[in-house]
Amino acid sequence: MSERYDVAVIGGGIAGLAIAEMFARAGRSVALIEKNHALCQEASASQHGWFHFGSLYSIFPQNHFLRTLIRNIENLMECYAGFEGMNIRIGRNGQLAFPQNLASWLRDQPIEYLLITRKDPDFDLRDYAGLSNLGRKIFFTATWEMAVKQFISRHNRFWKYDWRGKVPASEWIPRAGWLDYSRDVMTEHDLKDISLSPYTHKRVVGYDRPMMAHRIIIDLTRALLGAGGRIFTNTEVENIEKLPSGEMMIHGAGRSVRAGQVVISAGKWLGRFLPRAEDVKVVASPLLVAYPAVSEHHFVRMTPFVEKSVNHIWHEVRGRRYSLIGGGYYADPNDAQAVARAVEDLKRMASRVFPALERARFVQSYLGYKTEVTARPGERNYQYFIRQADDNVWAVVPGKFTLSFSLALDTFRRITGEEPARAVRLVPAEETQAYLDFTEHARIVMENTAEAA
Ligand SMILES: Cc1cc2nc3c(=O)[nH]c(=O)nc-3n(C[C@H](O)[C@H](O)[C@H](O)COP(=O)(O)OP(=O)(O)OC[C@H]3O[C@@H](n4cnc5c(N)ncnc54)[C@H](O)[C@@H]3O)c2cc1C
Repeated sequence: MSERYDVAVIGGGIAGLAIAEMFARAGRSVALIEKNHALCQEASASQHGWFHFGSLYSIFPQNHFLRTLIRNIENLMECYAGFEGMNIRIGRNGQLAFPQNLASWLRDQPIEYLLITRKDPDFDLRDYAGLSNLGRKIFFTATWEMAVKQFISRHNRFWKYDWRGKVPASEWIPRAGWLDYSRDVMTEHDLKDISLSPYTHKRVVGYDRPMMAHRIIIDLTRALLGAGGRIFTNTEVENIEKLPSGEMMIHGAGRSVRAGQVVISAGKWLGRFLPRAEDVKVVASPLLVAYPAVSEHHFVRMTPFVEKSVNHIWHEVRGRRYSLIGGGYYADPNDAQAVARAVEDLKRMASRVFPALERARFVQSYLGYKTEVTARPGERNYQYFIRQADDNVWAVVPGKFTLSFSLALDTFRRITGEEPARAVRLVPAEETQAYLDFTEHARIVMENTAEAA
Protein backbone atom coordinates (compact mmCIF):
# COMPACT_ATOMS: atom_id res chain seq x y z
CA MET A 1 0.00 0.00 0.00
CA SER A 2 1.48 3.38 -0.98
CA GLU A 3 1.60 6.32 1.39
CA ARG A 4 -1.06 8.97 0.85
CA TYR A 5 -0.64 12.75 1.23
CA ASP A 6 -3.01 15.64 0.70
CA VAL A 7 -0.31 17.38 -1.34
CA ALA A 8 2.85 16.13 -3.04
CA VAL A 9 5.37 18.73 -4.17
CA ILE A 10 7.82 17.63 -6.84
CA GLY A 11 11.10 19.55 -6.70
CA GLY A 12 12.72 20.78 -3.49
CA GLY A 13 14.15 24.10 -4.61
CA ILE A 14 13.05 27.24 -2.79
CA ALA A 15 9.69 27.25 -4.62
CA GLY A 16 8.81 23.68 -3.66
CA LEU A 17 10.08 24.15 -0.12
CA ALA A 18 8.04 27.33 0.46
CA ILE A 19 4.89 25.77 -1.01
CA ALA A 20 5.27 22.54 0.97
CA GLU A 21 5.74 24.57 4.15
CA MET A 22 2.65 26.69 3.46
CA PHE A 23 0.39 23.62 3.03
CA ALA A 24 1.92 21.78 6.00
CA ARG A 25 1.40 24.66 8.42
CA ALA A 26 -2.28 24.74 7.40
CA GLY A 27 -2.58 21.16 8.62
CA ARG A 28 -2.34 19.36 5.25
CA SER A 29 -0.24 16.19 5.01
CA VAL A 30 2.61 17.02 2.64
CA ALA A 31 5.42 15.15 0.86
CA LEU A 32 8.27 17.17 -0.67
CA ILE A 33 10.11 15.04 -3.24
CA GLU A 34 13.60 15.99 -4.42
CA LYS A 35 15.95 14.15 -6.77
CA ASN A 36 19.20 15.45 -5.25
CA HIS A 37 20.81 14.46 -1.94
CA ALA A 38 19.68 17.77 -0.42
CA LEU A 39 17.14 20.56 -0.94
CA CYS A 40 17.90 23.80 -2.86
CA GLN A 41 20.94 22.54 -4.76
CA GLU A 42 20.05 23.77 -8.29
CA ALA A 43 18.99 27.32 -9.27
CA SER A 44 18.26 28.03 -5.60
CA ALA A 45 21.92 27.31 -4.77
CA SER A 46 23.38 29.33 -7.63
CA GLN A 47 21.46 32.56 -7.07
CA HIS A 48 23.19 35.80 -6.20
CA GLY A 49 21.74 36.48 -2.74
CA TRP A 50 19.94 39.66 -3.79
CA PHE A 51 16.56 40.16 -2.15
CA HIS A 52 14.41 42.25 -4.47
CA PHE A 53 12.06 44.83 -2.96
CA GLY A 54 11.48 46.37 -6.38
CA SER A 55 14.36 48.84 -6.39
CA LEU A 56 15.97 47.34 -9.51
CA TYR A 57 12.63 46.93 -11.25
CA SER A 58 11.81 50.61 -10.72
CA ILE A 59 13.73 51.25 -13.92
CA PHE A 60 11.16 49.46 -16.09
CA PRO A 61 8.36 51.54 -17.60
CA GLN A 62 5.67 49.07 -16.43
CA ASN A 63 4.36 49.21 -12.87
CA HIS A 64 3.50 45.56 -12.36
CA PHE A 65 7.04 44.34 -11.52
CA LEU A 66 7.30 46.86 -8.71
CA ARG A 67 3.77 46.08 -7.52
CA THR A 68 4.48 42.33 -7.41
CA LEU A 69 7.68 42.82 -5.43
CA ILE A 70 6.12 45.21 -2.92
CA ARG A 71 3.17 42.85 -2.53
CA ASN A 72 5.76 40.21 -1.65
CA ILE A 73 6.97 42.40 1.26
CA GLU A 74 3.38 42.73 2.47
CA ASN A 75 2.96 38.95 2.20
CA LEU A 76 6.14 38.40 4.20
CA MET A 77 4.99 40.71 6.99
CA GLU A 78 1.50 39.17 7.05
CA CYS A 79 2.31 35.47 6.84
CA TYR A 80 5.97 34.98 7.80
CA ALA A 81 6.13 37.06 10.99
CA GLY A 82 6.26 33.82 12.99
CA PHE A 83 9.86 33.29 11.86
CA GLU A 84 12.36 35.01 14.10
CA GLY A 85 14.72 35.39 11.13
CA MET A 86 12.13 37.21 9.00
CA ASN A 87 13.52 40.57 10.03
CA ILE A 88 11.42 43.06 8.08
CA ARG A 89 9.88 45.36 10.66
CA ILE A 90 8.11 48.71 10.67
CA GLY A 91 10.13 51.25 12.63
CA ARG A 92 8.69 54.01 14.80
CA ASN A 93 9.01 56.46 11.90
CA GLY A 94 6.88 54.21 9.67
CA GLN A 95 9.88 53.17 7.58
CA LEU A 96 11.06 49.60 7.08
CA ALA A 97 13.77 48.43 9.44
CA PHE A 98 15.92 45.28 9.38
CA PRO A 99 17.03 44.47 12.94
CA GLN A 100 19.88 41.98 12.97
CA ASN A 101 20.09 38.76 14.95
CA LEU A 102 21.84 35.42 14.38
CA ALA A 103 18.93 34.13 12.30
CA SER A 104 18.23 37.27 10.18
CA TRP A 105 17.13 36.57 6.61
CA LEU A 106 18.09 40.01 5.32
CA ARG A 107 21.20 42.08 5.89
CA ASP A 108 20.71 45.75 6.69
CA GLN A 109 23.08 46.96 3.98
CA PRO A 110 21.69 48.75 0.95
CA ILE A 111 22.38 47.79 -2.62
CA GLU A 112 23.51 50.93 -4.42
CA TYR A 113 22.86 51.91 -8.02
CA LEU A 114 25.48 53.54 -10.20
CA LEU A 115 23.43 54.97 -13.02
CA ILE A 116 25.26 55.90 -16.17
CA THR A 117 24.79 59.41 -17.51
CA ARG A 118 24.35 60.40 -21.14
CA LYS A 119 28.09 61.23 -21.28
CA ASP A 120 29.06 57.60 -20.75
CA PRO A 121 30.82 55.80 -23.65
CA ASP A 122 27.96 53.23 -23.59
CA PHE A 123 25.99 55.85 -25.53
CA ASP A 124 28.75 56.53 -28.07
CA LEU A 125 26.94 56.24 -31.38
CA ARG A 126 30.20 55.64 -33.28
CA ASP A 127 30.70 52.40 -31.43
CA TYR A 128 27.99 49.98 -32.54
CA ALA A 129 27.79 46.48 -34.02
CA GLY A 130 25.10 46.20 -36.72
CA LEU A 131 22.20 48.44 -37.68
CA SER A 132 19.73 47.03 -35.14
CA ASN A 133 22.23 47.82 -32.42
CA LEU A 134 22.53 51.39 -33.70
CA GLY A 135 18.72 51.67 -33.54
CA ARG A 136 18.80 50.40 -29.96
CA LYS A 137 21.47 52.96 -29.05
CA ILE A 138 19.48 55.82 -30.51
CA PHE A 139 16.34 54.66 -28.70
CA PHE A 140 18.08 54.41 -25.33
CA THR A 141 19.87 57.72 -25.82
CA ALA A 142 16.47 59.35 -26.25
CA THR A 143 14.69 57.54 -23.39
CA TRP A 144 17.32 56.91 -20.68
CA GLU A 145 16.88 60.21 -18.86
CA MET A 146 13.13 59.64 -18.58
CA ALA A 147 13.75 56.13 -17.25
CA VAL A 148 16.18 57.50 -14.63
CA LYS A 149 13.66 60.17 -13.55
CA GLN A 150 11.00 57.53 -13.10
CA PHE A 151 13.46 55.34 -11.17
CA ILE A 152 14.18 58.22 -8.80
CA SER A 153 10.50 59.15 -8.40
CA ARG A 154 9.63 55.60 -7.44
CA HIS A 155 12.52 55.52 -4.96
CA ASN A 156 11.38 58.74 -3.37
CA ARG A 157 7.86 57.41 -3.09
CA PHE A 158 9.17 54.23 -1.45
CA TRP A 159 11.08 56.29 1.14
CA LYS A 160 8.05 58.55 1.75
CA TYR A 161 5.64 55.68 2.33
CA ASP A 162 4.46 55.20 5.90
CA TRP A 163 4.11 51.45 6.42
CA ARG A 164 1.65 52.06 9.27
CA GLY A 165 -0.73 53.65 6.75
CA LYS A 166 -4.06 52.27 5.56
CA VAL A 167 -3.45 52.24 1.80
CA PRO A 168 -1.36 49.17 0.93
CA ALA A 169 2.19 49.93 -0.14
CA SER A 170 1.75 47.83 -3.28
CA GLU A 171 -1.00 50.23 -4.41
CA TRP A 172 0.55 53.50 -3.28
CA ILE A 173 4.24 53.25 -4.15
CA PRO A 174 3.96 52.22 -7.80
CA ARG A 175 1.75 55.29 -8.47
CA ALA A 176 4.84 57.52 -8.37
CA GLY A 177 4.61 60.61 -10.56
CA TRP A 178 6.62 63.71 -11.40
CA LEU A 179 5.79 65.33 -8.05
CA ASP A 180 7.86 62.60 -6.41
CA TYR A 181 10.95 63.49 -8.42
CA SER A 182 13.90 65.15 -6.72
CA ARG A 183 17.56 65.19 -7.65
CA ASP A 184 18.49 65.09 -3.94
CA VAL A 185 18.64 61.30 -3.87
CA MET A 186 21.27 61.30 -6.62
CA THR A 187 24.78 61.91 -5.32
CA GLU A 188 28.33 61.74 -6.65
CA HIS A 189 29.68 58.25 -6.80
CA ASP A 190 32.58 57.89 -4.39
CA LEU A 191 32.95 54.12 -4.24
CA LYS A 192 36.73 53.92 -3.93
CA ASP A 193 37.39 50.31 -4.87
CA ILE A 194 35.58 50.45 -8.23
CA SER A 195 36.97 51.77 -11.54
CA LEU A 196 33.81 53.43 -12.81
CA SER A 197 34.18 57.07 -13.70
CA PRO A 198 32.48 59.47 -11.24
CA TYR A 199 31.92 61.79 -14.23
CA THR A 200 29.63 59.34 -16.00
CA HIS A 201 28.03 57.52 -13.04
CA LYS A 202 25.62 58.91 -10.45
CA ARG A 203 24.81 57.12 -7.24
CA VAL A 204 21.35 56.30 -5.85
CA VAL A 205 20.99 54.26 -2.67
CA GLY A 206 18.39 51.59 -3.32
CA TYR A 207 16.02 49.73 -1.02
CA ASP A 208 16.86 46.15 -2.08
CA ARG A 209 18.94 44.17 0.43
CA PRO A 210 21.41 41.26 0.33
CA MET A 211 19.84 38.11 1.75
CA MET A 212 21.11 35.17 3.74
CA ALA A 213 19.47 32.52 1.58
CA HIS A 214 20.75 29.60 3.64
CA ARG A 215 19.01 30.95 6.74
CA ILE A 216 15.72 31.25 4.85
CA ILE A 217 16.14 27.66 3.63
CA ILE A 218 16.95 26.38 7.12
CA ASP A 219 13.94 28.17 8.64
CA LEU A 220 11.45 26.98 6.03
CA THR A 221 12.76 23.41 6.46
CA ARG A 222 12.43 23.72 10.25
CA ALA A 223 8.81 24.84 9.83
CA LEU A 224 8.01 22.15 7.28
CA LEU A 225 9.31 19.43 9.60
CA GLY A 226 7.68 21.14 12.59
CA ALA A 227 4.30 20.89 10.86
CA GLY A 228 4.80 17.18 10.18
CA GLY A 229 5.79 17.50 6.49
CA ARG A 230 7.84 14.66 4.99
CA ILE A 231 10.93 15.23 2.83
CA PHE A 232 12.12 12.55 0.41
CA THR A 233 15.56 13.28 -1.03
CA ASN A 234 17.40 11.13 -3.64
CA THR A 235 13.99 10.51 -5.19
CA GLU A 236 13.65 11.44 -8.85
CA VAL A 237 10.04 11.47 -9.99
CA GLU A 238 9.68 9.63 -13.28
CA ASN A 239 5.99 9.93 -13.96
CA ILE A 240 2.64 10.96 -12.53
CA GLU A 241 -0.29 8.64 -13.01
CA LYS A 242 -3.90 9.76 -12.79
CA LEU A 243 -6.00 7.30 -10.78
CA PRO A 244 -9.71 6.65 -11.55
CA SER A 245 -10.54 8.34 -8.21
CA GLY A 246 -9.02 11.59 -9.54
CA GLU A 247 -6.08 11.30 -7.15
CA MET A 248 -2.56 11.13 -8.49
CA MET A 249 0.10 8.44 -8.08
CA ILE A 250 3.68 9.67 -8.25
CA HIS A 251 6.32 7.15 -9.22
CA GLY A 252 10.09 7.40 -8.94
CA ALA A 253 13.20 5.80 -7.46
CA GLY A 254 11.31 2.65 -6.44
CA ARG A 255 8.80 4.66 -4.41
CA SER A 256 5.14 5.45 -5.12
CA VAL A 257 3.25 8.16 -3.34
CA ARG A 258 -0.47 8.88 -3.69
CA ALA A 259 -1.63 12.48 -3.45
CA GLY A 260 -4.82 14.50 -3.69
CA GLN A 261 -3.00 17.44 -5.30
CA VAL A 262 0.37 17.63 -7.02
CA VAL A 263 2.46 20.79 -7.30
CA ILE A 264 5.38 20.58 -9.72
CA SER A 265 8.21 22.98 -8.92
CA ALA A 266 10.93 21.23 -10.91
CA GLY A 267 12.81 24.35 -12.09
CA LYS A 268 14.51 23.84 -15.44
CA TRP A 269 13.06 20.32 -15.65
CA LEU A 270 9.48 21.58 -15.50
CA GLY A 271 8.96 20.97 -19.26
CA ARG A 272 9.18 17.23 -18.60
CA PHE A 273 5.85 17.43 -16.79
CA LEU A 274 3.98 19.97 -18.92
CA PRO A 275 1.91 19.03 -21.97
CA ARG A 276 3.77 21.74 -23.96
CA ALA A 277 7.42 21.48 -22.96
CA GLU A 278 8.31 24.30 -25.34
CA ASP A 279 6.51 26.74 -23.02
CA VAL A 280 9.46 26.43 -20.63
CA LYS A 281 12.40 28.66 -21.46
CA VAL A 282 15.77 28.18 -19.75
CA VAL A 283 18.81 30.46 -20.01
CA ALA A 284 22.30 29.89 -18.65
CA SER A 285 23.64 32.82 -16.66
CA PRO A 286 27.23 33.02 -15.33
CA LEU A 287 28.43 34.41 -12.01
CA LEU A 288 32.00 34.99 -10.81
CA VAL A 289 33.20 34.11 -7.33
CA ALA A 290 36.30 35.96 -6.12
CA TYR A 291 38.10 35.56 -2.83
CA PRO A 292 38.89 37.69 -0.91
CA ALA A 293 36.10 40.15 -1.70
CA VAL A 294 37.11 42.73 -4.31
CA SER A 295 34.80 45.51 -3.11
CA GLU A 296 33.15 46.45 0.15
CA HIS A 297 30.00 47.68 -1.62
CA HIS A 298 26.87 45.98 -2.86
CA PHE A 299 26.07 47.73 -6.11
CA VAL A 300 24.76 47.56 -9.65
CA ARG A 301 26.14 49.42 -12.64
CA MET A 302 22.85 50.45 -14.18
CA THR A 303 22.86 50.98 -17.93
CA PRO A 304 20.18 50.37 -20.55
CA PHE A 305 22.73 48.15 -22.32
CA VAL A 306 22.35 45.00 -20.22
CA GLU A 307 25.47 43.43 -21.73
CA LYS A 308 27.43 46.25 -20.05
CA SER A 309 25.83 45.98 -16.65
CA VAL A 310 27.67 44.54 -13.70
CA ASN A 311 26.59 43.88 -10.15
CA HIS A 312 28.38 42.92 -6.98
CA ILE A 313 27.29 41.50 -3.64
CA TRP A 314 29.66 40.18 -1.03
CA HIS A 315 28.90 37.25 1.25
CA GLU A 316 30.67 35.36 4.01
CA VAL A 317 31.13 31.70 4.74
CA ARG A 318 32.90 30.57 7.92
CA GLY A 319 34.40 34.04 8.35
CA ARG A 320 35.66 34.27 4.75
CA ARG A 321 34.31 37.26 2.88
CA TYR A 322 34.02 36.80 -0.89
CA SER A 323 32.56 38.58 -3.92
CA LEU A 324 29.79 37.39 -6.17
CA ILE A 325 29.81 39.27 -9.47
CA GLY A 326 27.11 39.09 -12.13
CA GLY A 327 25.49 41.14 -14.84
CA GLY A 328 23.10 40.89 -17.77
CA TYR A 329 24.98 37.98 -19.32
CA TYR A 330 23.07 34.91 -20.45
CA ALA A 331 22.91 32.39 -23.28
CA ASP A 332 21.00 29.42 -24.62
CA PRO A 333 22.34 26.50 -22.54
CA ASN A 334 22.45 24.32 -25.70
CA ASP A 335 24.76 26.75 -27.50
CA ALA A 336 28.22 26.05 -26.04
CA GLN A 337 29.85 28.95 -27.92
CA ALA A 338 27.27 31.47 -26.73
CA VAL A 339 27.65 30.21 -23.15
CA ALA A 340 31.47 30.54 -23.35
CA ARG A 341 31.02 34.06 -24.75
CA ALA A 342 28.69 35.06 -21.89
CA VAL A 343 31.30 33.87 -19.37
CA GLU A 344 34.10 35.76 -21.16
CA ASP A 345 32.01 38.95 -21.41
CA LEU A 346 31.33 38.85 -17.68
CA LYS A 347 35.02 38.26 -16.88
CA ARG A 348 36.08 41.13 -19.17
CA MET A 349 33.57 43.53 -17.61
CA ALA A 350 34.54 42.45 -14.08
CA SER A 351 38.26 42.99 -14.67
CA ARG A 352 37.47 46.49 -16.01
CA VAL A 353 35.47 47.40 -12.92
CA PHE A 354 37.36 45.74 -10.02
CA PRO A 355 41.09 46.54 -9.80
CA ALA A 356 41.44 44.10 -6.89
CA LEU A 357 40.38 41.19 -9.08
CA GLU A 358 43.91 40.62 -10.36
CA ARG A 359 45.17 40.27 -6.79
CA ALA A 360 42.39 37.85 -5.76
CA ARG A 361 43.49 34.47 -4.43
CA PHE A 362 41.08 32.84 -6.83
CA VAL A 363 38.39 33.80 -9.31
CA GLN A 364 36.05 31.11 -10.52
CA SER A 365 32.95 31.24 -12.69
CA TYR A 366 29.91 28.99 -12.57
CA LEU A 367 26.65 28.80 -14.48
CA GLY A 368 23.16 29.07 -13.06
CA TYR A 369 19.96 28.33 -14.98
CA LYS A 370 17.03 30.71 -15.01
CA THR A 371 13.63 29.27 -15.89
CA GLU A 372 10.66 31.14 -17.29
CA VAL A 373 7.35 30.02 -18.65
CA THR A 374 5.82 31.70 -21.69
CA ALA A 375 2.60 33.42 -20.70
CA ARG A 376 -0.84 32.49 -21.97
CA PRO A 377 -3.44 35.21 -22.19
CA GLY A 378 -4.80 36.06 -18.75
CA GLU A 379 -1.91 34.42 -16.89
CA ARG A 380 0.35 36.23 -14.46
CA ASN A 381 3.82 35.85 -15.81
CA TYR A 382 5.69 38.97 -14.90
CA GLN A 383 7.54 37.40 -12.02
CA TYR A 384 6.09 34.20 -10.66
CA PHE A 385 3.80 31.81 -12.35
CA ILE A 386 1.14 29.23 -11.44
CA ARG A 387 -0.53 27.09 -14.09
CA GLN A 388 -3.06 24.33 -13.67
CA ALA A 389 -1.67 21.54 -15.85
CA ASP A 390 -4.44 18.98 -15.12
CA ASP A 391 -7.38 18.51 -12.72
CA ASN A 392 -5.25 18.20 -9.58
CA VAL A 393 -1.85 19.09 -11.00
CA TRP A 394 -0.22 22.52 -10.79
CA ALA A 395 3.02 23.80 -12.32
CA VAL A 396 4.87 26.70 -10.69
CA VAL A 397 7.93 28.89 -11.30
CA PRO A 398 8.97 31.60 -8.80
CA GLY A 399 10.90 33.78 -11.30
CA LYS A 400 13.02 34.88 -8.36
CA PHE A 401 14.09 33.30 -5.10
CA THR A 402 12.64 36.44 -3.50
CA LEU A 403 9.16 35.73 -4.82
CA SER A 404 8.81 32.22 -3.42
CA PHE A 405 6.82 33.69 -0.53
CA SER A 406 4.08 35.25 -2.66
CA LEU A 407 4.20 32.19 -4.88
CA ALA A 408 3.59 29.88 -1.90
CA LEU A 409 0.69 32.00 -0.66
CA ASP A 410 -1.00 32.32 -4.02
CA THR A 411 -0.57 28.62 -4.79
CA PHE A 412 -2.17 27.78 -1.46
CA ARG A 413 -5.05 30.20 -2.01
CA ARG A 414 -5.67 29.02 -5.56
CA ILE A 415 -5.71 25.33 -4.70
CA THR A 416 -7.64 25.49 -1.43
CA GLY A 417 -9.65 28.72 -1.70
CA GLU A 418 -8.66 29.31 1.95
CA GLU A 419 -6.58 31.88 3.76
CA PRO A 420 -3.18 30.61 4.93
CA ALA A 421 -2.33 29.77 8.55
CA ARG A 422 -0.05 32.27 10.27
CA ALA A 423 1.49 30.27 13.12
CA VAL A 424 4.63 28.19 12.56
CA ARG A 425 6.31 25.60 14.74
CA LEU A 426 10.05 25.25 14.24
CA VAL A 427 12.03 22.11 15.00
CA PRO A 428 15.65 22.69 16.14
CA ALA A 429 17.96 23.63 13.26
CA GLU A 430 20.05 20.44 13.80
CA GLU A 431 17.11 18.36 12.59
CA THR A 432 17.38 19.94 9.14
CA GLN A 433 21.02 18.97 8.58
CA ALA A 434 20.22 15.72 6.77
CA TYR A 435 18.29 17.67 4.14
CA LEU A 436 20.52 20.69 3.48
CA ASP A 437 23.90 21.61 2.00
CA PHE A 438 25.94 24.70 0.99
CA THR A 439 25.03 27.14 -1.76
CA GLU A 440 27.12 26.84 -4.93
CA HIS A 441 29.23 29.95 -4.26
CA ALA A 442 29.85 29.09 -0.61
CA ARG A 443 30.93 25.61 -1.67
CA ILE A 444 33.37 27.05 -4.23
CA VAL A 445 34.92 29.27 -1.56
CA MET A 446 35.15 26.39 0.93
CA GLU A 447 36.82 24.13 -1.63
CA ASN A 448 39.30 26.74 -2.84
CA THR A 449 40.30 27.81 0.64
CA ALA A 450 40.29 24.35 2.19
CA GLU A 451 43.94 24.54 3.27
CA ALA A 452 43.19 27.78 5.13
CA ALA A 453 40.42 26.11 7.14
C1 LIG B 1 22.77 33.03 -11.79
C2 LIG B 1 21.47 33.29 -11.09
C3 LIG B 1 21.37 34.31 -10.16
C4 LIG B 1 20.17 34.55 -9.52
N1 LIG B 1 20.12 35.51 -8.57
C5 LIG B 1 18.97 35.73 -7.88
C6 LIG B 1 18.95 36.67 -6.83
O1 LIG B 1 19.96 37.28 -6.51
N2 LIG B 1 17.76 36.88 -6.19
C7 LIG B 1 16.63 36.21 -6.50
O2 LIG B 1 15.60 36.46 -5.89
N3 LIG B 1 16.63 35.26 -7.48
C8 LIG B 1 17.76 35.00 -8.17
N4 LIG B 1 17.80 34.04 -9.15
C9 LIG B 1 16.58 33.30 -9.46
C10 LIG B 1 16.38 32.14 -8.47
O3 LIG B 1 17.58 31.43 -8.30
C11 LIG B 1 15.33 31.18 -8.99
O4 LIG B 1 14.19 31.89 -9.41
C12 LIG B 1 14.88 30.19 -7.93
O5 LIG B 1 15.97 29.67 -7.20
C13 LIG B 1 14.18 29.03 -8.61
O6 LIG B 1 13.72 28.14 -7.63
P1 LIG B 1 13.03 26.78 -8.04
O7 LIG B 1 12.68 26.10 -6.78
O8 LIG B 1 11.94 27.04 -9.02
O9 LIG B 1 14.14 25.99 -8.89
P2 LIG B 1 15.34 25.07 -8.41
O10 LIG B 1 16.06 25.66 -7.29
O11 LIG B 1 16.11 24.72 -9.64
O12 LIG B 1 14.59 23.79 -7.86
C14 LIG B 1 13.98 22.83 -8.68
C15 LIG B 1 14.19 21.50 -7.98
O13 LIG B 1 13.45 20.47 -8.63
C16 LIG B 1 14.21 19.29 -8.54
N5 LIG B 1 13.72 18.35 -9.55
C17 LIG B 1 13.68 18.54 -10.89
N6 LIG B 1 13.16 17.47 -11.51
C18 LIG B 1 12.84 16.60 -10.53
C19 LIG B 1 12.25 15.31 -10.53
N7 LIG B 1 11.90 14.70 -11.66
N8 LIG B 1 12.07 14.67 -9.35
C20 LIG B 1 12.44 15.27 -8.17
N9 LIG B 1 12.99 16.47 -8.12
C21 LIG B 1 13.19 17.15 -9.27
C22 LIG B 1 15.64 19.78 -8.80
O14 LIG B 1 16.62 18.86 -8.40
C23 LIG B 1 15.65 21.07 -7.99
O15 LIG B 1 16.09 20.87 -6.66
C24 LIG B 1 19.02 33.77 -9.81
C25 LIG B 1 19.11 32.73 -10.74
C26 LIG B 1 20.32 32.46 -11.35
C27 LIG B 1 20.41 31.32 -12.30
